Amino acid sequence: MASYDYEIAVIGAGPGGYETAIKAAQLGKKTCIVEEKEFGGTCLNVGCIPTKVLIRTANLVSEIRDASKFAVEGVDPAAVSVDMKKLQQRKSGIVKTLTGGVRALLGGNRVAIEKGKAAFVDAHTLSVGDKTITAENIIIATGSKVFMPPFIAIEGDSRVITSDEALGLDSLPKRMAVIGGGVIGVEFAYLFSKLGVEVTVLELMDQILPMVDPEISSLARKSMEQGGVSFKLGAKVKTVKDNCVQFELDGKEEEIAADLVLMAVGRVPNTEGLNAEGIGLAFERKAIQTNERLQTNIPHIYAIGDVNGKVMLAHTASHEGMTALENICGGYAEMDYDKIPSCIYITPEIASIGLTEAKAKEKAGKIKVGRFPFAANGKSLIEGSTEGMAKVILDEETGEILGVHLFGSHVTEMIGEISAAMASELTAEEVIGSIHPHPTVNEAVGEAFMAAWLGKSINNL
Ligand code: NAD
Repeated sequence: MASYDYEIAVIGAGPGGYETAIKAAQLGKKTCIVEEKEFGGTCLNVGCIPTKVLIRTANLVSEIRDASKFAVEGVDPAAVSVDMKKLQQRKSGIVKTLTGGVRALLGGNRVAIEKGKAAFVDAHTLSVGDKTITAENIIIATGSKVFMPPFIAIEGDSRVITSDEALGLDSLPKRMAVIGGGVIGVEFAYLFSKLGVEVTVLELMDQILPMVDPEISSLARKSMEQGGVSFKLGAKVKTVKDNCVQFELDGKEEEIAADLVLMAVGRVPNTEGLNAEGIGLAFERKAIQTNERLQTNIPHIYAIGDVNGKVMLAHTASHEGMTALENICGGYAEMDYDKIPSCIYITPEIASIGLTEAKAKEKAGKIKVGRFPFAANGKSLIEGSTEGMAKVILDEETGEILGVHLFGSHVTEMIGEISAAMASELTAEEVIGSIHPHPTVNEAVGEAFMAAWLGKSINNL
Protein backbone atom coordinates (compact mmCIF):
# COMPACT_ATOMS: atom_id res chain seq x y z
CA MET A 1 0.00 0.00 0.00
CA ALA A 2 1.25 3.44 -0.87
CA SER A 3 2.41 5.54 2.06
CA TYR A 4 1.41 9.16 2.38
CA ASP A 5 2.64 12.12 4.44
CA TYR A 6 -0.81 12.42 6.04
CA GLU A 7 -3.92 10.32 6.44
CA ILE A 8 -6.04 13.45 6.01
CA ALA A 9 -5.19 16.83 4.44
CA VAL A 10 -7.73 19.61 4.84
CA ILE A 11 -7.58 22.58 2.47
CA GLY A 12 -8.91 25.77 4.06
CA ALA A 13 -9.12 26.79 7.74
CA GLY A 14 -12.61 28.29 7.86
CA PRO A 15 -15.13 26.87 10.37
CA GLY A 16 -15.62 23.80 8.16
CA GLY A 17 -11.95 23.08 7.63
CA TYR A 18 -10.48 23.87 11.05
CA GLU A 19 -13.13 22.01 13.08
CA THR A 20 -12.83 18.99 10.78
CA ALA A 21 -9.02 18.99 11.06
CA ILE A 22 -9.21 19.16 14.87
CA LYS A 23 -11.77 16.35 15.03
CA ALA A 24 -9.68 14.24 12.61
CA ALA A 25 -6.63 14.64 14.85
CA GLN A 26 -8.75 13.82 17.92
CA LEU A 27 -9.80 10.60 16.16
CA GLY A 28 -6.12 9.71 15.88
CA LYS A 29 -5.64 10.55 12.21
CA LYS A 30 -2.36 12.13 11.09
CA THR A 31 -3.77 15.40 9.81
CA CYS A 32 -2.59 18.63 8.21
CA ILE A 33 -4.43 21.81 7.31
CA VAL A 34 -3.42 24.16 4.51
CA GLU A 35 -4.35 27.84 4.74
CA GLU A 36 -3.08 30.69 2.61
CA LYS A 37 -4.65 33.61 4.50
CA GLU A 38 -5.96 34.16 8.04
CA PHE A 39 -7.31 31.29 10.15
CA GLY A 40 -11.09 31.26 10.56
CA GLY A 41 -12.07 31.87 6.94
CA THR A 42 -14.96 34.10 5.88
CA CYS A 43 -16.93 33.47 9.08
CA LEU A 44 -14.36 34.80 11.52
CA ASN A 45 -12.70 37.42 9.32
CA VAL A 46 -15.36 38.93 7.04
CA GLY A 47 -18.63 37.17 7.84
CA CYS A 48 -20.62 35.92 10.82
CA ILE A 49 -18.41 37.23 13.61
CA PRO A 50 -17.57 40.81 12.51
CA THR A 51 -21.14 41.51 11.31
CA LYS A 52 -22.52 40.45 14.66
CA VAL A 53 -20.02 42.68 16.49
CA LEU A 54 -21.30 45.69 14.51
CA ILE A 55 -24.94 44.61 14.95
CA ARG A 56 -24.39 44.29 18.72
CA THR A 57 -23.46 47.99 18.86
CA ALA A 58 -26.35 48.97 16.56
CA ASN A 59 -28.77 47.14 18.87
CA LEU A 60 -27.21 48.62 21.99
CA VAL A 61 -27.42 52.19 20.73
CA SER A 62 -31.04 51.64 19.81
CA GLU A 63 -31.82 50.21 23.27
CA ILE A 64 -30.06 53.10 25.01
CA ARG A 65 -32.12 55.59 23.00
CA ASP A 66 -35.23 53.70 24.17
CA ALA A 67 -34.12 53.76 27.83
CA SER A 68 -37.02 55.94 28.99
CA LYS A 69 -39.46 53.14 28.03
CA PHE A 70 -37.80 51.12 30.80
CA ALA A 71 -38.08 53.99 33.31
CA VAL A 72 -34.41 54.91 32.95
CA GLU A 73 -33.97 58.67 33.14
CA GLY A 74 -31.19 61.00 32.06
CA VAL A 75 -30.53 59.65 28.57
CA ASP A 76 -30.76 62.21 25.79
CA PRO A 77 -31.43 60.04 22.70
CA ALA A 78 -30.06 62.74 20.40
CA ALA A 79 -26.76 62.79 22.31
CA VAL A 80 -26.14 59.05 21.87
CA SER A 81 -23.83 58.27 18.98
CA VAL A 82 -21.41 55.60 17.75
CA ASP A 83 -17.69 56.14 17.30
CA MET A 84 -17.10 54.07 14.15
CA LYS A 85 -13.33 54.03 14.60
CA LYS A 86 -13.65 52.58 18.11
CA LEU A 87 -16.23 50.12 16.86
CA GLN A 88 -13.76 48.94 14.20
CA GLN A 89 -11.12 48.50 16.93
CA ARG A 90 -13.54 46.40 19.01
CA LYS A 91 -14.38 44.31 15.94
CA SER A 92 -10.71 43.74 15.07
CA GLY A 93 -9.92 42.77 18.68
CA ILE A 94 -12.64 40.12 18.75
CA VAL A 95 -11.64 38.76 15.32
CA LYS A 96 -7.99 38.60 16.42
CA THR A 97 -8.86 36.75 19.64
CA LEU A 98 -10.88 34.17 17.75
CA THR A 99 -8.46 33.64 14.85
CA GLY A 100 -5.57 33.34 17.33
CA GLY A 101 -7.71 30.82 19.23
CA VAL A 102 -8.17 28.73 16.09
CA ARG A 103 -4.43 28.59 15.51
CA ALA A 104 -3.84 27.58 19.13
CA LEU A 105 -6.53 24.88 18.97
CA LEU A 106 -5.03 23.41 15.79
CA GLY A 107 -1.57 23.36 17.35
CA GLY A 108 -2.88 22.00 20.67
CA ASN A 109 -4.55 19.14 18.83
CA ARG A 110 -1.37 18.37 16.87
CA VAL A 111 -2.75 19.31 13.47
CA ALA A 112 0.21 20.15 11.20
CA ILE A 113 -0.19 23.64 9.74
CA GLU A 114 0.96 24.33 6.18
CA LYS A 115 0.82 28.04 5.30
CA GLY A 116 0.35 28.73 1.60
CA LYS A 117 -1.95 28.11 -1.33
CA ALA A 118 -2.79 24.49 -2.08
CA ALA A 119 -3.15 23.19 -5.63
CA PHE A 120 -3.76 19.62 -6.76
CA VAL A 121 -0.84 17.93 -8.51
CA ASP A 122 -2.73 14.64 -8.66
CA ALA A 123 -5.55 13.03 -6.69
CA HIS A 124 -3.28 12.34 -3.66
CA THR A 125 -0.77 15.19 -4.00
CA LEU A 126 -0.93 18.90 -3.23
CA SER A 127 1.60 21.60 -3.91
CA VAL A 128 1.83 24.29 -1.23
CA GLY A 129 4.27 26.96 -2.41
CA ASP A 130 7.41 25.02 -3.29
CA LYS A 131 6.51 22.12 -0.99
CA THR A 132 4.65 18.93 -1.93
CA ILE A 133 2.30 17.07 0.41
CA THR A 134 0.70 13.70 -0.11
CA ALA A 135 -2.43 12.49 1.67
CA GLU A 136 -4.58 9.40 1.69
CA ASN A 137 -7.77 11.50 1.94
CA ILE A 138 -8.24 15.15 1.06
CA ILE A 139 -11.03 17.42 2.28
CA ILE A 140 -11.61 20.58 0.25
CA ALA A 141 -12.99 23.38 2.44
CA THR A 142 -12.01 26.45 0.44
CA GLY A 143 -15.24 28.38 1.03
CA SER A 144 -16.75 31.04 -1.20
CA LYS A 145 -16.21 34.60 -2.36
CA VAL A 146 -18.49 37.53 -3.12
CA PHE A 147 -20.33 37.23 -6.44
CA MET A 148 -19.93 40.33 -8.59
CA PRO A 149 -22.70 39.86 -11.17
CA PRO A 150 -21.72 40.38 -14.80
CA PHE A 151 -25.35 41.38 -15.48
CA ILE A 152 -25.07 44.55 -13.37
CA ALA A 153 -22.88 47.13 -15.10
CA ILE A 154 -20.88 49.55 -12.95
CA GLU A 155 -20.26 52.81 -14.78
CA GLY A 156 -18.92 56.32 -14.20
CA ASP A 157 -17.86 57.46 -10.74
CA SER A 158 -19.55 54.82 -8.57
CA ARG A 159 -18.70 53.69 -5.05
CA VAL A 160 -19.78 50.04 -5.08
CA ILE A 161 -18.63 47.87 -2.19
CA THR A 162 -19.14 44.27 -1.07
CA SER A 163 -19.79 42.91 2.42
CA ASP A 164 -16.00 42.56 2.86
CA GLU A 165 -15.49 46.34 2.60
CA ALA A 166 -18.78 47.22 4.35
CA LEU A 167 -17.41 45.56 7.48
CA GLY A 168 -14.40 47.84 7.48
CA LEU A 169 -16.19 51.22 7.13
CA ASP A 170 -14.97 53.67 9.74
CA SER A 171 -17.27 56.44 8.59
CA LEU A 172 -20.88 56.26 7.44
CA PRO A 173 -22.49 57.47 4.20
CA LYS A 174 -25.72 59.48 4.30
CA ARG A 175 -27.60 57.25 1.85
CA MET A 176 -26.88 53.61 1.00
CA ALA A 177 -28.44 51.42 -1.68
CA VAL A 178 -28.28 47.68 -1.11
CA ILE A 179 -28.61 45.45 -4.18
CA GLY A 180 -30.09 42.11 -3.08
CA GLY A 181 -32.52 41.38 -0.26
CA GLY A 182 -31.02 38.03 0.76
CA VAL A 183 -29.46 37.45 4.19
CA ILE A 184 -26.42 39.65 3.57
CA GLY A 185 -28.45 42.52 2.10
CA VAL A 186 -31.00 42.42 4.90
CA GLU A 187 -28.49 42.16 7.78
CA PHE A 188 -26.40 45.06 6.44
CA ALA A 189 -29.50 47.16 5.66
CA TYR A 190 -30.65 46.63 9.25
CA LEU A 191 -27.22 47.42 10.68
CA PHE A 192 -26.56 50.62 8.73
CA SER A 193 -30.09 51.89 9.16
CA LYS A 194 -29.78 51.49 12.96
CA LEU A 195 -26.51 53.45 12.75
CA GLY A 196 -28.39 56.33 11.09
CA VAL A 197 -27.87 55.71 7.36
CA GLU A 198 -30.85 56.12 4.95
CA VAL A 199 -31.03 52.64 3.39
CA THR A 200 -32.94 51.35 0.36
CA VAL A 201 -32.90 47.63 -0.49
CA LEU A 202 -33.54 46.56 -4.10
CA GLU A 203 -34.69 42.96 -4.44
CA LEU A 204 -35.49 41.09 -7.63
CA MET A 205 -38.13 38.78 -6.11
CA ASP A 206 -41.44 39.90 -4.62
CA GLN A 207 -40.27 39.13 -1.08
CA ILE A 208 -37.09 39.73 0.85
CA LEU A 209 -35.23 36.68 2.17
CA PRO A 210 -36.70 34.42 -0.54
CA MET A 211 -35.49 31.31 1.31
CA VAL A 212 -37.50 32.13 4.48
CA ASP A 213 -41.18 31.25 5.08
CA PRO A 214 -43.03 34.17 3.38
CA GLU A 215 -45.22 34.85 6.43
CA ILE A 216 -42.08 35.44 8.49
CA SER A 217 -40.14 37.39 5.85
CA SER A 218 -43.09 39.70 5.30
CA LEU A 219 -43.33 40.40 9.08
CA ALA A 220 -39.58 41.10 9.08
CA ARG A 221 -39.85 43.49 6.11
CA LYS A 222 -42.70 45.43 7.75
CA SER A 223 -40.73 45.67 10.96
CA MET A 224 -37.65 46.98 9.11
CA GLU A 225 -39.82 49.46 7.18
CA GLN A 226 -41.12 50.80 10.50
CA GLY A 227 -37.49 51.15 11.52
CA GLY A 228 -36.82 53.33 8.46
CA VAL A 229 -35.49 50.95 5.76
CA SER A 230 -37.08 51.33 2.29
CA PHE A 231 -37.63 48.31 0.07
CA LYS A 232 -38.13 48.07 -3.67
CA LEU A 233 -39.43 44.56 -4.38
CA GLY A 234 -39.52 43.11 -7.89
CA ALA A 235 -36.72 45.51 -8.80
CA LYS A 236 -34.26 44.18 -11.36
CA VAL A 237 -31.07 46.17 -11.00
CA LYS A 238 -29.22 46.59 -14.30
CA THR A 239 -26.69 49.37 -13.85
CA VAL A 240 -24.98 51.49 -11.23
CA LYS A 241 -24.00 54.75 -12.86
CA ASP A 242 -22.36 57.60 -10.94
CA ASN A 243 -23.75 56.11 -7.71
CA CYS A 244 -27.29 55.98 -9.14
CA VAL A 245 -28.83 52.51 -9.06
CA GLN A 246 -30.88 51.98 -12.23
CA PHE A 247 -33.50 49.25 -12.19
CA GLU A 248 -36.59 47.91 -13.91
CA LEU A 249 -39.77 47.76 -11.82
CA ASP A 250 -43.19 46.82 -13.25
CA GLY A 251 -41.86 47.32 -16.77
CA LYS A 252 -40.65 50.86 -16.01
CA GLU A 253 -37.08 52.12 -15.76
CA GLU A 254 -36.37 53.82 -12.41
CA GLU A 255 -33.34 54.96 -10.44
CA ILE A 256 -32.35 55.95 -6.95
CA ALA A 257 -29.33 57.98 -5.90
CA ALA A 258 -27.01 56.85 -3.12
CA ASP A 259 -23.63 57.79 -1.66
CA LEU A 260 -22.57 54.18 -1.35
CA VAL A 261 -23.86 51.00 -3.02
CA LEU A 262 -23.57 47.56 -1.41
CA MET A 263 -23.60 44.62 -3.81
CA ALA A 264 -25.20 41.62 -2.07
CA VAL A 265 -26.50 39.28 -4.77
CA GLY A 266 -24.84 36.12 -3.52
CA ARG A 267 -21.56 34.29 -3.09
CA VAL A 268 -19.81 31.77 -5.35
CA PRO A 269 -17.74 28.73 -4.42
CA ASN A 270 -14.02 29.43 -4.30
CA THR A 271 -11.92 27.00 -6.34
CA GLU A 272 -9.50 29.51 -7.80
CA GLY A 273 -6.01 28.12 -8.35
CA LEU A 274 -6.93 24.71 -6.90
CA ASN A 275 -6.52 22.84 -10.20
CA ALA A 276 -9.66 20.87 -9.34
CA GLU A 277 -10.62 20.57 -13.02
CA GLY A 278 -7.06 19.49 -13.81
CA ILE A 279 -7.34 16.30 -11.75
CA GLY A 280 -10.83 15.60 -13.09
CA LEU A 281 -13.07 16.72 -10.20
CA ALA A 282 -16.68 17.14 -11.35
CA PHE A 283 -18.45 20.48 -10.95
CA GLU A 284 -22.09 21.45 -10.62
CA ARG A 285 -22.11 24.96 -12.06
CA LYS A 286 -19.34 26.66 -10.04
CA ALA A 287 -19.50 24.26 -7.08
CA ILE A 288 -17.55 21.05 -6.53
CA GLN A 289 -20.07 18.24 -6.91
CA THR A 290 -20.60 16.01 -3.88
CA ASN A 291 -22.92 13.16 -2.90
CA GLU A 292 -24.84 12.97 0.42
CA ARG A 293 -21.68 11.53 2.03
CA LEU A 294 -19.70 14.60 0.88
CA GLN A 295 -17.58 12.58 -1.55
CA THR A 296 -16.63 14.13 -4.85
CA ASN A 297 -16.49 11.99 -8.00
CA ILE A 298 -13.00 10.96 -6.77
CA PRO A 299 -14.08 8.97 -3.69
CA HIS A 300 -11.17 9.80 -1.35
CA ILE A 301 -11.57 13.54 -2.04
CA TYR A 302 -14.37 15.25 -0.12
CA ALA A 303 -15.75 18.80 -0.40
CA ILE A 304 -17.45 20.49 2.55
CA GLY A 305 -18.90 23.96 3.18
CA ASP A 306 -19.58 26.78 0.73
CA VAL A 307 -17.34 25.22 -1.94
CA ASN A 308 -19.90 22.45 -2.59
CA GLY A 309 -22.57 25.13 -3.06
CA LYS A 310 -25.28 23.30 -1.08
CA VAL A 311 -26.06 25.42 2.01
CA MET A 312 -23.67 28.32 2.59
CA LEU A 313 -23.70 28.44 6.39
CA ALA A 314 -20.77 28.00 8.81
CA HIS A 315 -22.50 25.36 10.94
CA THR A 316 -23.43 23.39 7.81
CA ALA A 317 -19.75 23.32 6.81
CA SER A 318 -18.69 21.99 10.23
CA HIS A 319 -21.44 19.36 10.23
CA GLU A 320 -20.52 18.30 6.70
CA GLY A 321 -16.93 17.96 7.91
CA MET A 322 -17.99 15.58 10.71
CA THR A 323 -20.07 13.62 8.19
CA ALA A 324 -17.11 13.34 5.80
CA LEU A 325 -14.86 12.19 8.67
CA GLU A 326 -17.24 9.45 9.70
CA ASN A 327 -17.16 8.17 6.13
CA ILE A 328 -13.36 8.42 5.96
CA CYS A 329 -13.08 6.50 9.24
CA GLY A 330 -15.05 3.57 7.86
CA GLY A 331 -18.54 4.50 9.05
CA TYR A 332 -21.53 5.52 6.98
CA ALA A 333 -23.04 8.99 7.33
CA GLU A 334 -25.20 11.18 5.11
CA MET A 335 -26.25 14.82 5.34
CA ASP A 336 -29.91 15.70 5.87
CA TYR A 337 -30.18 19.16 4.39
CA ASP A 338 -33.81 19.53 5.57
CA LYS A 339 -32.72 19.79 9.21
CA ILE A 340 -30.29 22.70 9.15
CA PRO A 341 -31.14 25.70 11.32
CA SER A 342 -30.67 29.15 9.89
CA CYS A 343 -30.42 32.43 11.83
CA ILE A 344 -30.75 36.03 10.66
CA TYR A 345 -29.50 38.74 12.99
CA ILE A 346 -31.86 41.65 12.65
CA THR A 347 -33.98 42.78 15.61
CA PRO A 348 -36.24 40.98 16.25
CA GLU A 349 -34.24 37.98 15.08
CA ILE A 350 -35.28 35.29 12.62
CA ALA A 351 -34.50 31.62 13.22
CA SER A 352 -35.85 28.77 11.19
CA ILE A 353 -35.38 25.11 10.46
CA GLY A 354 -36.97 22.69 8.03
CA LEU A 355 -39.53 23.39 5.36
CA THR A 356 -41.62 26.48 4.65
CA GLU A 357 -45.40 25.98 4.83
CA ALA A 358 -45.67 25.70 1.02
CA LYS A 359 -42.82 23.17 0.76
CA ALA A 360 -44.19 21.15 3.71
CA LYS A 361 -47.60 20.93 2.01
CA GLU A 362 -45.87 19.79 -1.18
CA LYS A 363 -43.92 17.09 0.68
CA ALA A 364 -46.38 15.80 3.28
CA GLY A 365 -49.73 16.60 1.69
CA LYS A 366 -51.68 17.13 4.93
CA ILE A 367 -50.06 19.39 7.49
CA LYS A 368 -50.98 21.16 10.71
CA VAL A 369 -49.81 24.73 11.32
CA GLY A 370 -49.75 26.54 14.66
CA ARG A 371 -48.73 30.04 15.62
CA PHE A 372 -48.08 31.80 18.91
CA PRO A 373 -47.57 35.56 19.11
CA PHE A 374 -44.73 36.84 21.31
CA ALA A 375 -47.17 39.55 22.48
CA ALA A 376 -48.80 36.80 24.58
CA ASN A 377 -45.51 35.75 26.19
CA GLY A 378 -44.63 37.20 29.60
CA LYS A 379 -40.85 37.32 29.13
CA SER A 380 -41.27 39.15 25.82
CA LEU A 381 -43.35 41.80 27.60
CA ILE A 382 -40.65 42.11 30.28
CA GLU A 383 -38.01 42.43 27.54
CA GLY A 384 -40.06 45.15 25.82
CA SER A 385 -40.08 43.13 22.61
CA THR A 386 -43.50 41.75 21.74
CA GLU A 387 -43.15 41.75 17.97
CA GLY A 388 -43.29 38.56 15.94
CA MET A 389 -44.42 34.99 16.39
CA ALA A 390 -43.46 31.34 16.54
CA LYS A 391 -44.80 29.24 13.67
CA VAL A 392 -44.77 25.44 13.74
CA ILE A 393 -45.53 23.11 10.81
CA LEU A 394 -46.25 19.43 11.47
CA ASP A 395 -47.20 16.34 9.52
CA GLU A 396 -50.96 16.02 10.21
CA GLU A 397 -50.88 12.27 10.73
CA THR A 398 -47.65 11.59 12.57
CA GLY A 399 -46.85 14.87 14.30
CA GLU A 400 -43.41 14.87 12.64
CA ILE A 401 -41.82 18.30 12.83
CA LEU A 402 -41.54 19.61 9.27
CA GLY A 403 -40.62 23.23 9.90
CA VAL A 404 -40.30 25.79 12.68
CA HIS A 405 -40.01 29.49 11.90
CA LEU A 406 -39.42 32.08 14.58
CA PHE A 407 -39.42 35.87 14.38
CA GLY A 408 -38.84 37.43 17.77
CA SER A 409 -36.21 38.45 20.26
CA HIS A 410 -33.61 35.84 21.32
CA VAL A 411 -34.96 33.27 18.84
CA THR A 412 -31.51 32.45 17.43
CA GLU A 413 -30.72 31.04 20.89
CA MET A 414 -33.90 28.95 20.81
CA ILE A 415 -33.78 27.11 17.49
CA GLY A 416 -31.18 24.64 18.86
CA GLU A 417 -33.97 22.92 20.82
CA ILE A 418 -35.83 22.20 17.60
CA SER A 419 -32.64 21.15 15.83
CA ALA A 420 -32.05 18.55 18.58
CA ALA A 421 -35.69 17.47 18.45
CA MET A 422 -35.61 17.03 14.66
CA ALA A 423 -32.25 15.22 14.71
CA SER A 424 -33.71 12.83 17.32
CA GLU A 425 -36.95 12.50 15.32
CA LEU A 426 -39.09 13.71 18.23
CA THR A 427 -42.75 14.32 17.46
CA ALA A 428 -44.94 17.28 18.42
CA GLU A 429 -46.27 15.36 21.43
CA GLU A 430 -42.76 14.87 22.79
CA VAL A 431 -41.89 18.55 22.39
CA ILE A 432 -45.16 19.50 24.12
CA GLY A 433 -44.37 16.97 26.85
CA SER A 434 -40.96 18.50 27.56
CA ILE A 435 -40.70 21.37 30.03
CA HIS A 436 -40.12 24.90 28.74
CA PRO A 437 -38.86 26.91 31.72
CA HIS A 438 -40.74 29.97 32.97
CA PRO A 439 -40.39 32.85 32.39
CA THR A 440 -38.64 32.50 29.05
CA VAL A 441 -39.33 33.64 25.49
CA ASN A 442 -38.88 29.95 24.60
CA GLU A 443 -42.24 29.09 26.18
CA ALA A 444 -43.79 30.54 23.01
CA VAL A 445 -42.30 27.64 21.03
CA GLY A 446 -43.99 25.06 23.25
CA GLU A 447 -47.25 27.02 22.90
CA ALA A 448 -46.94 27.13 19.08
CA PHE A 449 -46.51 23.33 19.11
CA MET A 450 -49.75 23.06 21.15
CA ALA A 451 -51.49 25.40 18.71
CA ALA A 452 -50.39 23.24 15.79
CA TRP A 453 -50.94 19.75 17.25
CA LEU A 454 -53.83 20.25 19.67
CA GLY A 455 -55.51 23.17 17.89
CA LYS A 456 -55.14 25.45 20.91
CA SER A 457 -52.43 26.88 23.11
CA ILE A 458 -52.88 27.70 26.80
CA ASN A 459 -51.84 31.32 27.02
CA ASN A 460 -53.61 32.62 23.92
CA LEU A 461 -57.28 32.53 22.86
P1 NAD B 1 -28.53 35.35 -1.43
O1 NAD B 1 -28.45 34.44 -2.61
O2 NAD B 1 -29.08 34.83 -0.16
O3 NAD B 1 -29.40 36.64 -1.82
C1 NAD B 1 -29.14 37.41 -2.97
C2 NAD B 1 -30.39 38.18 -3.35
O4 NAD B 1 -30.09 39.03 -4.46
C3 NAD B 1 -31.52 37.27 -3.77
O5 NAD B 1 -32.64 37.54 -2.95
C4 NAD B 1 -31.73 37.63 -5.24
O6 NAD B 1 -33.09 37.56 -5.64
C5 NAD B 1 -31.22 39.07 -5.31
N1 NAD B 1 -30.82 39.52 -6.65
C6 NAD B 1 -30.11 38.82 -7.59
N2 NAD B 1 -29.93 39.57 -8.70
C7 NAD B 1 -30.53 40.77 -8.49
C8 NAD B 1 -30.69 41.96 -9.26
N3 NAD B 1 -30.19 42.10 -10.49
N4 NAD B 1 -31.38 43.00 -8.72
C9 NAD B 1 -31.89 42.90 -7.47
N5 NAD B 1 -31.76 41.80 -6.70
C10 NAD B 1 -31.09 40.75 -7.19
O7 NAD B 1 -27.05 35.92 -1.22
P2 NAD B 1 -26.41 36.79 -0.06
O8 NAD B 1 -27.41 37.49 0.75
O9 NAD B 1 -25.35 37.57 -0.76
O10 NAD B 1 -25.74 35.68 0.88
C11 NAD B 1 -24.75 34.76 0.36
C12 NAD B 1 -24.69 33.53 1.22
O11 NAD B 1 -24.19 33.80 2.51
C13 NAD B 1 -26.06 32.87 1.41
O12 NAD B 1 -25.96 31.51 1.18
C14 NAD B 1 -26.39 33.17 2.84
O13 NAD B 1 -27.19 32.16 3.42
C15 NAD B 1 -25.02 33.26 3.51
N6 NAD B 1 -25.09 34.14 4.68
C16 NAD B 1 -25.77 33.73 5.78
C17 NAD B 1 -25.88 34.56 6.89
C18 NAD B 1 -26.64 34.10 8.09
O14 NAD B 1 -27.01 32.94 8.14
N7 NAD B 1 -26.92 34.94 9.09
C19 NAD B 1 -25.33 35.83 6.86
C20 NAD B 1 -24.66 36.22 5.72
C21 NAD B 1 -24.55 35.37 4.64
